[in-house]
Formats: sequence, C-alpha cells, structure tokens
Amino acid sequence: MTHVMNTYKRLPVAFERGEGCWLWDREGKRYLDALAGIAVCGLGHSHPRFVSALTTQLGKLVHTSNLYQIRHQEELADRLAAISGMDEMFFCNSGCEANEAALKLARLYGHARGIETPAVIVMEKAFHGRTIATLSATGSRKVQAGFEPLVGGFVRVPLDDLGAVRKVAENNRNVVAVLVELIQGEGGINICHAGYLQGLREICNANQWLLMLDEVQSGTGRTGKWFAYQHSGVMPDVATLAKGLASGVPIGVCLAAGAAKGLFKPGNHGSTFGGNPLACAAALATLDIIESESLMANAVAMGNFIRDGFRARLADVAGVREVRGAGLMIGIELDFPCDELVGQALDAGLLINVTNDNVIRLLPPLPIKRDEAEQVVALLTPLITDFLARNRTAQPAAQTA
Ligand code: PLP
Repeated sequence: MTHVMNTYKRLPVAFERGEGCWLWDREGKRYLDALAGIAVCGLGHSHPRFVSALTTQLGKLVHTSNLYQIRHQEELADRLAAISGMDEMFFCNSGCEANEAALKLARLYGHARGIETPAVIVMEKAFHGRTIATLSATGSRKVQAGFEPLVGGFVRVPLDDLGAVRKVAENNRNVVAVLVELIQGEGGINICHAGYLQGLREICNANQWLLMLDEVQSGTGRTGKWFAYQHSGVMPDVATLAKGLASGVPIGVCLAAGAAKGLFKPGNHGSTFGGNPLACAAALATLDIIESESLMANAVAMGNFIRDGFRARLADVAGVREVRGAGLMIGIELDFPCDELVGQALDAGLLINVTNDNVIRLLPPLPIKRDEAEQVVALLTPLITDFLARNRTAQPAAQTA
C-alpha cells in the first residue's frame, strides 16, 4: 500500500536516470522523452554544465532566508530583467504561486485605484494552477469541482476573442486586469491570432487595466523566444514563469513592469523558499545554457520539423483535426478522446501526454536532435493511425477553441 496521496493517476513506470532526451527505467528500458517533465526539463536530463553548476552551489550554500540579501537572487532578477524588458521580480516556488502573486498585484492595483471589489478577466480553457485562487481562475470545471466556494472576482471570456473582452470593458467597472496564456498548454495547445496581444494591450491601456501573461508553460525559450509575448513586440505589465526556468529545481517568478511596479511593500507578500541560492543558481545556469547553446533556435527548427513531419504523415488520416503549436509546444488534435495513446506510447518507449481529452501534447527538451525528432514522428504516427482506425466511431469529440 502506498502512503502517497492519491492525486495522480500514475503510469506503471519509475525512471532511474536520464541523459539528454532519454530516460531509463528500473529494468533498463530506454524511453525517448517528448514531454520533459511537462515542460520542466528544458535542457534535457543531466546536462553536464547544469549538473556542475548545481553541484558547485550545493557545496557552498542551499538556503539562507529572504530576511537577508541573496546575491544569486539579485543576479537572477537582473538577468530576467535584461531578457524580459520587465522591471521587478518576485521569486517563489511554482507556477501557481507565481500566478497568486500576479492576482494579488492586480487586487492591490485595483484598491489603489479606489475599486473595492477588483475583478480579473480570465479565459475559457485556461489553466493557472491548483491553489484555491488559481483554480478559480482556471477555466476547467474538472479542476474546480468539489472545491467550491471558488474565489470570486473573475470574469470569464473565450480565448482569442477581443470583442468579448471589449464587451466586459463596457459593462464591468470592477475589472482591473486581464490574465491570459498566449498559448494554452493544459487547455490543448490553443493559440491566439497574431493581433490578439496588441488588441488586448490597447483595451488594457484604454481602461487602465494590467495586462498579465501566464508564461509558466510557454516561457523560458520553449516557443523560440524567452517569452511567447516576444514574438509580437507587445509588453505586458505582469508575466509569470516557472516550469523550465530552473530545469527541475522548483522555482516560480512573477515579473512586473509599468503600473504593476512598486505595488508590493514589505509584509504584503513573501515565500520561505522563494529565490534561494540553489534555485537561483539553477535558473542562472539554465538561462546561460539556453543562450550559449542556441537552444531557442533549435526549438524553432525542431518544432517546425516535428510539426511538418506529422502534417505530412497524417495528412490523409481521417480523425486528425490539426497539428499546431509554436516552437517545442506541439499539439495534435484528434476528433476522438485519446488518453489511451499515452500508455501505448510508453510501451513503445516514447513519453507523451494527452490534454483536454483529445489533444496529444508534445513538449520535448529544447536540445532535441534531428534524429530524435524523427524518432518522435516515426514512433507516434503508427500509434495514432492504428488508434484512429480501431476506435473512431460516428461520435467525434467536441471541437476545441
Ligand atoms: N500556469 C500554467 C500555464 C501551467 O501550465 C501550469 C502548470 O501546468 C501552472 C500555471 C501551474 O504551475 P504549477 O504546477 O507549478 O503550480
């Protein structure tokens, strides 16, 4: 009997070690990792420079406290400011905590403007975490069910619909911010159109709202830029990062600029572990390696290569709705719920994920090589075609956004 709480439906495999894009289980079977711990192990496994930086830091100092100056935190904040164009960083330990900080900033901002019950616009199919506030911001009944009463102060609209946001602006004087994932990860790799962010920025400017971007999954180089917003040149007021930033050492960051700057004062917010020397050294090493090994360019090239490979091989397969994504955030939408493909891929030595019931999600490590990318396509294609041939009925799954 396990004493671990039953919060995950776990696959019957335990990994012992990893190297690059490969993992080995306890029986010595090798797996090609096309998921990277759900966009966490962006450098792949056991990257020698990362191991060396972390080992050195472990031998010096792991944790002090935010009661003291932390040189690594200052250095990481400077580095993040340089790559993001943002001004201030709050360090925590996960994506949901980074989003909690963003939501608290929005409320402080609202109160400073004299709004007593500030509200934040959030999106359908969004995922922002599993704390009480972030699950309330999340657009999934599955995530929320059983945890009512939800935190109030959220107004939900469809993703990629500027008209819906404008309508809220006309009718709701309590709104102080918009929180959005430019590429929804858990929601099914749903992508916003090119002008969406600019449109949101204009609406936010016109209404004095904060533009807040959840880059927990899309950030740290995964889409080919440090942040997904950098594809458009539009700047947010708040952004959040976590997952890939420290390559598996827990970290989260809430980045603020413009009107969101300077809102927190001592006592408003905090974290015991947030931004400790070990996590910051891991993040600094991650950023250095991504930059010096040109991993963002590789993410673009390999992402295009994988999408093109699937598009070519699945072009005539009935039941494949779309292959989409940006960089190494890749979704293959079927018209049929396909969770069982995860276990079949595992048997075939490939780690993948299915999200939103019918979207196969791939988030491989950024250094994935061409022959490994070829193997992802070669291993997964027959599984998809066989699965659809066996299971497809006249009952297609619901159309996603
Ligand atoms: N935001 C996004 C976009 C995510 O994808 C996730 C996790 O999947 C989170 C927030 C929550 O992050 P964490 O699990 O680190 O709390």
